[in-house]
Parts: sequence; C-alpha cells; structure tokens
Amino acid sequence: MNEYLMEKRMLCPLCQKSFNTTKVKTTKLRIIDRDTDFCTYYEDINPYFYEINVCPECGFAFSDTHTGDIIDEKRERFKQIISSKWTGRDFGGIRDIDQAIETYKMAITSSEITGEKSSKLAGLCLRLSWLFRIKEDREEELRFMRWSTELYGKAYQWEDFDGKDSMELGTVLYLLGELNYRLGEYKKASTWFNIAFTNASDINASTMGIIRDRWQDIKEDIKKAL
Ligand SMILES: [Zn+2]
Repeated sequence: MNEYLMEKRMLCPLCQKSFNTTKVKTTKLRIIDRDTDFCTYYEDINPYFYEINVCPECGFAFSDTHTGDIIDEKRERFKQIISSKWTGRDFGGIRDIDQAIETYKMAITSSEITGEKSSKLAGLCLRLSWLFRIKEDREEELRFMRWSTELYGKAYQWEDFDGKDSMELGTVLYLLGELNYRLGEYKKASTWFNIAFTNASDINASTMGIIRDRWQDIKEDIKKAL
C-alpha cells in the first residue's frame, strides 16, 4: 500500500458477507484536468481504479453508488452464473489499469444480471470508456461510450429523476448530447441539447450553464456537419 490508499470495510449486497477493499484517500486527491464528458484527471493517483468493490466470497462487483436492492430471483441467478464458477480472487491492494478495467467489466456483468438501473449501468460503461481513453485504446473507448449512450437514453425514457438516489435530469441530457457529439452522431447530439433547452425549467441553473456553454462551443461544428 502507499500513502494515497486506505482499507475500507464493505458489505456485499449480494451475499451479505463483509470484506476489505482498497480506496483512495479523498483528502489526497488533486484535480489537474477535466474533459467535457466529466472524465477527471488527478495528480499522482487515479481514484477510478478503486471505485469498484469486488466481493472475494461470491464475485459480485459493485460501485459505492450501487442501489443495493437485489431481488431473490436475481440473487439466485447471479449465484448460478457467476458465484458457482468464482475462484475467490481478491482485488484488494494496488490495482493497475488492466485490473481496474477487469473490475468494471465485472461490475457491468454483475449489474446486468441483478437488474441494476440503466443510469447506474450507463455510469459504469462511461467510466470504463474513460479508462480506455487513458490507455489510448480508442476502439474500446468508443465501444463503451456507445453502450453508455444507449443506456442513458433508456434511463431518460424510463427512470424518474426526482428521487433522492436518482441522477439529475440535466446531467443525463447533457451527457446524451455530449456523448453523441463525441461519437460523431451530430443529429442526435443536437436533438438532446434541444431537449435540454426545452426542459430548462426542470434543470438546475448550474447544470443549465454547463449545457449552454457546451452548446456554444460545438453548435457550429454540428451545423456544418448536418
Ligand atoms: Zn458477496
């Protein structure tokens, strides 16, 4: 371990056993840059590497924002598909980027099997796409960005954005616009920014500011391409 890391006790939402995982001390984090899709760069250590908790007992992988609700039927399904083949690997300690990528893929599979909300799954795919950006693997970056975009689209359609644990509507709309723009889907990007402007009264002022600024920066690009 090093000065940036600490151990944290976690409770597995699937098998209910406790285990230790490694986290970055938030007091040690210094932001150096941020991309327009919110991918953030930190000095010395990357907290994204440690966001996913992997239960060594059953193989369930989840982020700290996991909703924790798993119905019995899905729990059994996970045990059948994953836990029955799980060899008790432990992802505690220092992780490199490839191990981090592996944990996100496991978290995506875990969330799919147990029926996590689309917005949560979209967030995992987006973070995984950022790890591939850091690794300079453009193809995988775009593959997971595309998947994330589809899931945010589903979330917009089916989820409620007023709850305590839900995403902010403006953030979802911004990401749908921004990610489509990054994917070269200019028409879709323009549609999502327009939906955000139409729903401005339901979006908080600071997010609306981010949406307006970004639209100013990219609208000429988009208009030229359409
Ligand atoms: Zn477990």
